[in-house]
Order: sequence, then structure tokens, then C-alpha cells
Amino acid sequence: MPVDTSEHDESRAPNGTYWWELTHRPGSNKPFGQTARIAAWIWFHKDVGETFTMNELRDALGPDIVGKSEHLNRRFRTLREVGWVLPSNKDDGSLRPDTYRVQVKGVRYWLDEERKAHKPFRPSARTRRIVIERDGGRCVVCGVAAGEPYPGEPDSKARLTIGHRVPQERLRARGAADNIDNWRTECAQCNETVRDELPDPDQYDEVLAQVRRLNKESKTVLLDWLQRGERTRSNLDRAYDRARILTHNERADLIKYLTGFGQG
Ligand SMILES: [Zn+2]
Repeated sequence: MPVDTSEHDESRAPNGTYWWELTHRPGSNKPFGQTARIAAWIWFHKDVGETFTMNELRDALGPDIVGKSEHLNRRFRTLREVGWVLPSNKDDGSLRPDTYRVQVKGVRYWLDEERKAHKPFRPSARTRRIVIERDGGRCVVCGVAAGEPYPGEPDSKARLTIGHRVPQERLRARGAADNIDNWRTECAQCNETVRDELPDPDQYDEVLAQVRRLNKESKTVLLDWLQRGERTRSNLDRAYDRARILTHNERADLIKYLTGFGQG
């Protein structure tokens, strides 16, 4: 007896629509997740080792989903949290800008049972409030407070969020539970750049405009960093980098220690 393959076509939802084309959860008026659509499209169109571009994704899923690289980066971050390895040009210089390689396919995020089994730790509103209050209402990375402009960007307005000190996949691997001490206050900008991603080439002009505003000395330093492929940091920078990722209590102890010097 011939097998009815349409019933076994895993690329389609129970209602017959391809997973990546679903706008609503089958049998419900709830929107179908954009991360799930992206994951499904990659899964069924690319083999491990193949590459894809932002434009391919945009053509397949529409500009509403793949419009802003910032949004796409957030989706990719979620996928990376659930086992996907999608290196970009930043991780692998042999890739062209805007191109990603499918190195590991992770959780099949469009399937409810798989998604639920790997649900990323999400903080409650209460946790967010406590963490932000504990951290003095400032981004622990750059020091900006909610609503403040970033230095040199008078029109900007920082938004605070919270992020993990230890990445949650590492926590999970250790079998550790999520814990309020592992959250820290980050502004949206630092939260975005701490982990992933090249700025989208669309923003090149903005980057250039910013570079143009630097003084001569800063331009020389920037050139050096770009040629080396890394930012050189002073001992003071390094001490700050390490100090700011201590737990809140450890940081308080360090502050107490340093305060002693001011009074000597
Ligand atoms: Zn920040």
C-alpha cells in the first residue's frame, strides 16, 4: 500500500501550511512565533554546513520578520540559547557580511513540545524590578540609567533590561537553576552588543558619521584596534571588566575596599 507522504511531511503544520508560512497557531488566533518560523525555514531549506543570507530570509519570511537586524539578532539569540549554532561573519571571517552558516541545528522551535522543554529562563516583572533596583538603576556594563542619553548621543534614551551573568545554556549544562544573583542590569544597547552580531551594513553610514566625530587621537587608537582585530585594554579597563561581572555582594565588598583608599 502506498504511503501517503503528505501526512508525514514534517515541513507542514497539521493544517497543511508550511511551518515558516504560519501566521497563527493552528486552531487558534494566537500569532505564530517569528523565531519558530525562522527556525523552521532554516531547518527545511538548509543542510548543516550551508549558508544563508539576511536577504534570503527576508524574501522567504517578509520584511516584517526580517526587517531590522536588531530584531533578527534577538531571534537568533533565542535560537542559540536552544542549541543552534549559526556563526556570522563576526565569528568566522571567511563568511561574507550578512551571511550565516548553519553549523548545528538545535531545538525544533516550531514544535510546542520541543520549545516548552527548552524554554529559556525568563525573568518575571518582579525579578526585573528587584535586579534593577539592586544594581542602582544603572546598566552595569556602561553605567547609563534609564532614560538618560548615551555619552555623545544627546538624542538617545537608554532603556534598561536585565541579562544573564553566566549564559543560561552553561547554567543548564551545570544543572543549575536560574537565580536572581545571575541576573544583572543591562541597557538595551549593551544587552544587544554584549553577545552577538555585527552591526548591519545598513548602519555603515551611521558608524562612519560617528567615527568622523572622533578626535585625531581617538581615530589613531581606533585604527590600531581595527588593524589588530581587537581592542587593546589597559589594566584599569581589565580590572573594571572583571569587577563589574562580580555578583552584587562581591562588588559591594570591592567598593568598600576601594572606599578605604579614598580616605587614606
Ligand atoms: Zn549599557
